[in-house]
Amino acid sequence: MTFVVHGLAVSRGVAIGRAVIVSSSRLDVAHYFVPADQGLAEIERLRAARNAVAEEIGRVQQGLHELGSNDAHPELAALLDVHLMLLQDEQLINGVKHWILERHYNAEWALTAQLEIIARQFDEMEDPYLRERKADLEQVVERMLRVMRGVASPMVASPAKGAGQQAPLDAADDAPLVLIAHDLSPADMLQFKQSVFAGFVTDVGGKTSHTAIVARSMDIPAVVGARSASHVIRQDDWVIIDGDAGVVVVDPSPVLLAEYGAKQRQGEVERERLSRLKNTPAVTLDGQKIELLANIEQPEDAVGALKAGAVGVGLFRSEFLFMGRDGKLPDEEEQYQAYRRAAEGMQGLPVTIRTVDVGADKPLDRTARAGDDHLNPALGLRAIRWSLAEPAMFLVQLRAILRAAAHGSVNLLIPMLAHAGEIRQTLALVNKAREQLDARGVVFGPLRLGAMIEVPAAALTVPLFLRHFDFLSIGTNDLIQYTLAIDRADESVSHLYDPVHPAVLQLIANTIAQCQALNKGVSVCGEMAGDVAMTRLLLGLGLRSFSMHPSQILAVKQQILRCDTTRLQAWAQSVLIADDPAALMTD
Ligand code: PEP
Ligand code: MG
Repeated sequence: MTFVVHGLAVSRGVAIGRAVIVSSSRLDVAHYFVPADQGLAEIERLRAARNAVAEEIGRVQQGLHELGSNDAHPELAALLDVHLMLLQDEQLINGVKHWILERHYNAEWALTAQLEIIARQFDEMEDPYLRERKADLEQVVERMLRVMRGVASPMVASPAKGAGQQAPLDAADDAPLVLIAHDLSPADMLQFKQSVFAGFVTDVGGKTSHTAIVARSMDIPAVVGARSASHVIRQDDWVIIDGDAGVVVVDPSPVLLAEYGAKQRQGEVERERLSRLKNTPAVTLDGQKIELLANIEQPEDAVGALKAGAVGVGLFRSEFLFMGRDGKLPDEEEQYQAYRRAAEGMQGLPVTIRTVDVGADKPLDRTARAGDDHLNPALGLRAIRWSLAEPAMFLVQLRAILRAAAHGSVNLLIPMLAHAGEIRQTLALVNKAREQLDARGVVFGPLRLGAMIEVPAAALTVPLFLRHFDFLSIGTNDLIQYTLAIDRADESVSHLYDPVHPAVLQLIANTIAQCQALNKGVSVCGEMAGDVAMTRLLLGLGLRSFSMHPSQILAVKQQILRCDTTRLQAWAQSVLIADDPAALMTD
């Protein structure tokens, strides 16, 4: 029966497909399709893994027996019996075969898909003893996954990413798939870039949470903060994700399917129309040239940035190079190569690399989620605070960026500065990194230095920043979070997250005005820059440089082409002093 789940609209468009429910802990298995004629080989991999695990358990049982410990540890002996039994469980085996043969999932994906189904059945059991067997099943599956990790599928070299394209489906009529999860970390999302999924839904998350930001960068429909979605939606349910309205329709009627199908086609037509603006210069009706830059997460995103007509990268979120690596940080050479690829990929256009900004809703890895051991991670040791607390790590990054600057036009951007002392320490470390490279005789290039204005304290002391930096970049996502005391990743307060709150607007307006007065560059690189509903206001406040995901550039450009900034100025000033600015936004 059709039902609807509401969440927050974070990435536009409509996706229609079958649900793949994945729990966070199982996200890092590879998800890709295997051609139909390889299905039996996948089943063979599974069988081999199952046998290996059974032998492993057999050896432990034997050990216990030889030590005469069976009687001493009756629970352990019984547990091992349960694990052996679960390994042979018909529902598990038949289900997995179904996913491989009918849906062409790779073995690991099939195994975890079936585990989700059985785990749910365990959750619903009345008997607490039986309910607890879920943990045993999970352990058995984890063991099989571990064995399979050592034996990759023969046809895919690197299955985690984009392998779906390498192994196209035989059954061309197979439906698209949409991922439903309780939570996805930004690193998880990145893993799904170019993946088989046509849309995403998560139970948690706010509109400008980093998970939502990465979803937007992928330009596929997504809804976050849908609370119970991963519980009420079942594996394989038909689902419509309306990323414009923040609505998820489960088991839609034929009428709804037709309606959303039409909306989907309409979106495609609109995209096609916008694509014609790619080479049109971003100039307003009164002749103001506007700089449209791209936000990227990986060096490879430079391709998409150029394709969308970006004239540079305004924000390279370097922390994505640091995440999901079990805490093992990239060394100088690896970072240098990554930054160099970005600089060269942009073919001489400027690339602004932001130093690592982990913490809060961007943990280094999934097992060490920020917040686990800190009371208030958004106010804790994140961004530049972490870098200054780990100067050796920071120097590695600074040296890598300086070296990459020899291969293009590179700017350095520092996140979350608030104190004069932090500015001093940061600049001292930049100098030290230069000296270290000099001492090693390593070539490096010139850097323009920029600071992010994303803490109210910084927005209120712009002259201090302008004395030390060449340009500023306003991070509205955090500026709003910290001005209004609203956790940007918490859906329960997302209704209070207000980009046009008078306090926020005044901080933005003052920052822009003070930069202009001193002829220093200023841009906005938070999500506000890519929101077409904000374009007129930002132009009216004097902004001439916007940085956003490549997927948003053409829509913002379309707005710009229709604007006359001379007319917008007075209106923007009236919005700025209004009690209810939102009421004036549609004027
Ligand atoms: C911001 O805060 O607006 C910003 C661009 O940085 P991030 O979203 O990565 O925190
Ligand atoms: Mg920020």
